[in-house]
This record gives sequence, structure tokens and C-alpha cells, in this order.
Amino acid sequence: MQISNKLYQLAEEVETEVGHIYQTIEQKALVNHQRVLQAFRDNRVSDFHLKGGSGYGYGDAGRDVLENIYAAVFGGEAALVRGQIVSGTHAIALCLLGVLQPGDNLLAVQGSPYDTLEETIGIRGNASGSLKRLGVNYNQIELLPNGDLDWDGIDRALSADVKMVMVQRSRGYAWRPSLNIDGIKQLVDFIKARSPKTIVFVDNCYGELVESREPLHVGADLIAGSLIKNPGGGIAPTGGYIVGRQDLVDMAANRWTAPGIGAEVGPTLNHQRLLMQGIFLAPHVVTESLKGAVFAARLFERLDYEVSPRYDEYRTDIIQAVKLGTADKLVEFCRGLQSASPVDSYVVPEPDGMPGYEDAVVMAAGTFVQGASIELSADGPLRDPYAVYLQGGLSKEYVKLGVLSAAERVLNIAK
Ligand SMILES: *Cc1c(COP(=O)(O)O)cnc(C)c1O
Repeated sequence: MQISNKLYQLAEEVETEVGHIYQTIEQKALVNHQRVLQAFRDNRVSDFHLKGGSGYGYGDAGRDVLENIYAAVFGGEAALVRGQIVSGTHAIALCLLGVLQPGDNLLAVQGSPYDTLEETIGIRGNASGSLKRLGVNYNQIELLPNGDLDWDGIDRALSADVKMVMVQRSRGYAWRPSLNIDGIKQLVDFIKARSPKTIVFVDNCYGELVESREPLHVGADLIAGSLIKNPGGGIAPTGGYIVGRQDLVDMAANRWTAPGIGAEVGPTLNHQRLLMQGIFLAPHVVTESLKGAVFAARLFERLDYEVSPRYDEYRTDIIQAVKLGTADKLVEFCRGLQSASPVDSYVVPEPDGMPGYEDAVVMAAGTFVQGASIELSADGPLRDPYAVYLQGGLSKEYVKLGVLSAAERVLNIAK
């Protein structure tokens, strides 16, 4: 790997500057690790819980224990944690399609939801089975120009009979602030004061275990996410999770398999131990990712790029955005990161269309688990402001090497 001495020196200075931030991250990790460990102890996890079932998967004790652990860690009555949920989008879609009925109103309060959900809702394309084709009404309140929630707009929208408000914790591919747990609490309190029966659903992707509380701890009703992001700890080979109120998790489970069968089936095969070990390690792996993000933020600030969040800003997700400004720099950043990956280092990323995404996207992910963005990945849609979104990192040292390789490539174009 070609990294100039000058860049190495800058990296050393950055490490010193960010040391105090690393400490605050470690303090939160301890709280989260304690909660996870306590859930394992309370459930008396034993070797036989780590072995997977086959066939229909009736009465799988390990699976039940894993779901109890997720419910305890994330603060819900029940959980559905399954390898057969293929992605975060799938887990979120199960919540929407399981709970919402024809004629119901769904409200989003932070502008457009994550790209892949636009087709699930039916605001883009005309996919069969979308909420729109099922007759669910959708309304979206834009964020104010400064990135704040439009409280007046939300207030007005809640005067209709809103069945569900959909909230997104992390920024996704948008240059906007993430919504942290205090912000989610304020929003939940606002909604419940006006419309107590409205269900608050949170897309928790990339936010898991970053703060010491989760959305369900502050009054949300249902959350969902992907196991190849934070909660899988870089170990889970596939899967998604849903946690929340028992009745809502049951509805999502009925949508997942078949009405009446719900969560009773689903063999854990050979991934049972990996999902267990993944949630156990997740608080630490999230910590490594966060430290890497802080390092990347400060490094690119020092190189005069606008970054979000800034290195010392409060974080609620593992995403680090860097505004690179041109398509060339975005592509070169991803190529530099890819070349510093343990798997597929020789592959050269090219921008291309992706199922579920509207703009061409360039992605770097040289991962052990295909597409696992908790391991370290970078991506960005080829649209203004050509921001790269960096996330994950199995170890902080690995993130550092990847980011330096990416920075070197960006600096070389600038010359
Ligand atoms: C990743 C992500 C999703 C979708 O998850 P996939 O596993 O990519 O389908 C949804 N929302 C947010 C905010 C995400 O970061």
C-alpha cells in the first residue's frame, strides 16, 4: 500500500487530537456490553443453544433464547431474529406490510426514507405488493432547511388518523443529521401526546449499540434492522431483526412466514452460534467502527473537507459522511478503500445501478460476509454533493489503514 510519509504524520497528529473522544466511546461500550452480557446470563445460555435446528425448525430452544436476548438488549417485549430475513429492507418491509392495512395512513417525518424503502412504500416505481398497491396511504413531512423536524407540519399531519409514524435513526445516503435517542424521545412524546394510538416504528439500521439506550427505551413501539450491520457484530453471516411490542412483532412474523404460523418455524441451520456470538461482540465492534469514523472525520477535516458528523460531534450511528465534491474523488476514495481490504483487494469499484437505488452508486466492500457494511465499507450515490458514506470496521487499526489508502488516492487526483 502506497501511503506517503506526510499522510502518516498527519495521521499521528490526528490520533493524538481524537484520543479523548475514544474514551467517551469506550465508556458507552462498557454500558452496552454489560447489558448484553446480563441478557446472556439471565437466559442461562449453554452450549446446546448454539446448535442450529433443521427442517421446519419447530421448538428451537437456541432460537428462542437468541430472541429473548435481543428483546432484553433492545428493550422490547418480543423479538424476531432470523437468518431467513434477508436484509434490513426486508425486516423493515415486514413491519410495514405486517402492521398496515388497506386504508391506513403511514407518515414519514424526515423527508424521503432510505432509498430502498421508496419502492416498498410505492413512492418510486410500481412494484407489486407495495404499500401503495395495497391501498395504504403515505404522507411525508420534509425536514426544515436547517435539518430540524418540522414540528408544525407533523402536528397538522397527525390530525388525520395516522396508524404509524416511520422514523429513521441514521442519516442513510442523505446529507442530513441523524436523529439521536434524545431526539427520538422528543418525537415519540410529541406524537403520543397528540395521538396516543399511533405506532412509532424506527428504522434502527446503523444505530444499534452506539448510544447507551435504544429507541424502545424511550417509547418507540417497534424497531428493525440488519444483522450484517451493527448487531451481527461482524460475525452474523446473514439475517435481520425486529424487536418491539408483542402484538406488532407477531404481525410482522405472520407476514414473514404465513398467517397463523408466524415465528413458530424457521430452522437456524449452521448460523445459530454465529448470531449469538455476533450480538455478544457487537458492542465492541461498534466501538471499533466509531473510533474509525472519528479518525476519518478528523483526518478529512484536516485535509479541508467538510465532514458530517464532525469528529467531536455527538453520534447516534456509525456512518461518517465526507463531502468530496466531485464524482472522480468519490470513485477514487472507494477504490483506495477497496484496495486496502482483506478480501477482493484487487477489485476496482465502478459506479453502477443497484436494485432499490435510483442513482448510480459506487461501493467499496472487501468483506468476509458479502456486503456486510459493519466490516468496513464506503459508498455513495453519484449525485451532488458527491459525499462518500463510510461505515463499519472490524478493528480500528483496519479502518485507519483503509481510510489512509482512500485519502492517498483522493489527494493524488487533486494534484
Ligand atoms: C442499510 C439501511 C437500510 C436497509 O438495509 P439493507 O440491509 O441494505 O436492505 C435501511 N435503512 C437504513 C437507514 C440503512 O442504513
